Amino acid sequence: MQRPGTFADANADWDDARFVVLGVPFDRTTSFRPGARFGPDAIRQHSWNFESYDLETGLDLADIPTHDLGNMEEFGSAQVMVDGVREAVAPIYAAGKFPITFGGDHACSPPCVEAYPKPDELGVLYLDAHMDFRSSYLGDPRSHGCSARRIVERVGARNVVVLGVRSVSAEEISDNKQIGMSFVTAHEIAREGIDSAVQRALNMLKTDHIYISLDIDAIDPAYAGATGTPEPFGLTPRDVKTVLQQAAPRLCGFDIMEVSPPYDQGNTSVLAARLAREAIVRVTADQNSRRPS
Ligand code: MN
Ligand code: MN
Repeated sequence: MQRPGTFADANADWDDARFVVLGVPFDRTTSFRPGARFGPDAIRQHSWNFESYDLETGLDLADIPTHDLGNMEEFGSAQVMVDGVREAVAPIYAAGKFPITFGGDHACSPPCVEAYPKPDELGVLYLDAHMDFRSSYLGDPRSHGCSARRIVERVGARNVVVLGVRSVSAEEISDNKQIGMSFVTAHEIAREGIDSAVQRALNMLKTDHIYISLDIDAIDPAYAGATGTPEPFGLTPRDVKTVLQQAAPRLCGFDIMEVSPPYDQGNTSVLAARLAREAIVRVTADQNSRRPS
């Protein structure tokens, strides 16, 4: 069965939905190899691979109200895209719903954070092989190479932790010495173990609510090679599953960026789809556990 138009089991209409899926087919700031603009549709297509029932939580995704808004139009520049995505995501938070955004290159994440109504009260876990901390890249401050920097400008350096970084320029390191954003490298995670590393990252974030931005290149290219700038020595899919599980009680939004279907034999898209479903079941299971019986 393949119904590529929508994310699997996103059967709810807007009013009833708790989770809202949005696609941003934009990859104009890709620096190495393009293709992420095809990411949203590929992730949706591969979401039909799965059973709606989730073994671990006992939840059925068909029973969790999720609405798919479809894709935004194609934008001519990053700045226009940013304005458009911010406008599209703001009503999702305003309605008390949980946005799940599929990119697109990583330039599509900052507007998803900027749309949050109380920026001082939002922490961001930024999963990426790269630091994305340039003030401007190839003349564009809204390039995907600047996304963590833009997010820091919005929510403050103390409210951002980058997880899984292993590729960075000397300038990004020296800039960050002044600015003070925390990061946990992929090598530290490998030595320390994911459970401890995630707990440490979550403890650094003092906010009640956390947004997770997943650049799929945070995951090792052995598992997720279909991306614009693959980088060895990455996280495992299970590491990211652990992040979602541990962050679930505070999670208020999630995005998956930089899936590039032209390089995919299916495994990267299917992994992205599975991680989106993991976020949905983990957040729902946590809410259900706190509901008075
Ligand atoms: Mn990135
Ligand atoms: Mn990256």
